[in-house]
Amino acid sequence: MQLFNTLSAEERAELIEQSGKQRLTLSFYAYTHLQDPQEFRNMLFLAWNPLEVLGRIYVATEGINAQLSLPADNFYAFKDHLDTIPFLNGIRLNVAVEHDDMSFLKLTIKVRSKIVADGLDDASFDVTNKGIHLGAKDFNEMLSDPNTIVVDFRNHYESEIGHFRGAITPDVDTFRESLPVIEDQLANHKEDKNLLMYCTGGIRCEKASAFFKHKGFKNVYQLEGGIIEYTRQVKAEGLESKFIGKNFVFDARLGERITDDIVAQCHQCGKPCDNHTNCANEACHLLFIQCDECKETMHNTCSAECLEVVQLPEEEQKALRRGIMKGNMIFKKGKSDSLTYKNSGELTDVALAPAPKVKVKPIARPRIKKVLLGKGQHYFPKAQVGQFLIEEHELNVGDTILISGPSTGEQQLVVDRMMVNGKESMVAIAGDKVTFNLPFRIRLSDKLYKLPN
Ligand SMILES: [Zn+2]
Ligand SMILES: [Zn+2]
Repeated sequence: MQLFNTLSAEERAELIEQSGKQRLTLSFYAYTHLQDPQEFRNMLFLAWNPLEVLGRIYVATEGINAQLSLPADNFYAFKDHLDTIPFLNGIRLNVAVEHDDMSFLKLTIKVRSKIVADGLDDASFDVTNKGIHLGAKDFNEMLSDPNTIVVDFRNHYESEIGHFRGAITPDVDTFRESLPVIEDQLANHKEDKNLLMYCTGGIRCEKASAFFKHKGFKNVYQLEGGIIEYTRQVKAEGLESKFIGKNFVFDARLGERITDDIVAQCHQCGKPCDNHTNCANEACHLLFIQCDECKETMHNTCSAECLEVVQLPEEEQKALRRGIMKGNMIFKKGKSDSLTYKNSGELTDVALAPAPKVKVKPIARPRIKKVLLGKGQHYFPKAQVGQFLIEEHELNVGDTILISGPSTGEQQLVVDRMMVNGKESMVAIAGDKVTFNLPFRIRLSDKLYKLPN
């Protein structure tokens, strides 16, 4: 029985490329009680390895946290397997917007003591007894209830550039610190107020909501899927975004703009700005907010000392760095006396400035002229038949079509037979209902295109 990957990363990369299969990148997490995480881990490996799942998955007695990729063709088999596991049945999968086929090169499933290193000693409470999940619409509604207290469970450098209007934003460096701060502040409102919480992707609130319920808070609610999922729903459903500014993310962008409001200031000159940067002095690396002008005059450093250091020859800089603990510099997050305009705790709910309009450069990609024909209406899984409504132009037997959508991806095929309004036919025009065989499921959000033959 093979319980581990045997191929090297290089061999794996080659196989992915050769297969030519489009891959989906997705993530999910769930807290539960697992008796035997090792056995659970082995079961997952045996089920997922044949489905060509690759990724980094942590399993612990408290649950699972997974980031992975898999061939789009295997998505439903994977989903079916998840549904056989009671605590993962019907779980929301976060599918990445941009798919990188090489995002993972191995299937690594590790047993850990925790699924997130949150530093909590939480054997004392039940992590599965969590707050009620709210979608964007319900979250907005509860925000406007005067009996609601909304708390941001992210850190000061995250909430500073964007947050929900009216939120309590604890001035903390870590999630662990925020819990006692909030518990103290809200000690008199355990029963009379709705405690509404949010974080980036929802996982911190899973834990925090269970913690506050354990502490005696009666009405605990959490934003399902965090700001990321909220933003998606706000866009999809045309709701008002009550989150203003940017959502801090830990990738090269350091923040994703949600609304055109700048709610933070350059830490050096105070002008409205919400662009994080790391101090250019390698021995400092402080995370802070710096405007373009200060970036230029300060050579991207946080202080006069660091400015001096970066102008020294590289050898001298290295000598200065000797003996400085590396961990120390990486965890410094924007708290420094040299930053005059650092705001935390009390943050503004009013935009300080509008975000500058960014000119979107057209992405260079090979141009395929596709013609929109209509949209997906239904999928009959037993018969493996998809139904589409033609809204414009016409579809002919023999046409090459493209079916495209967020879950479906991009699927291309040739129509060799079709039924039009229930009868076999060679051509379908606007207003017609068309059905034909499809080896994959389609969605209501899928669009049907014709490609040039
Ligand atoms: Zn500045
Ligand atoms: Zn610095």
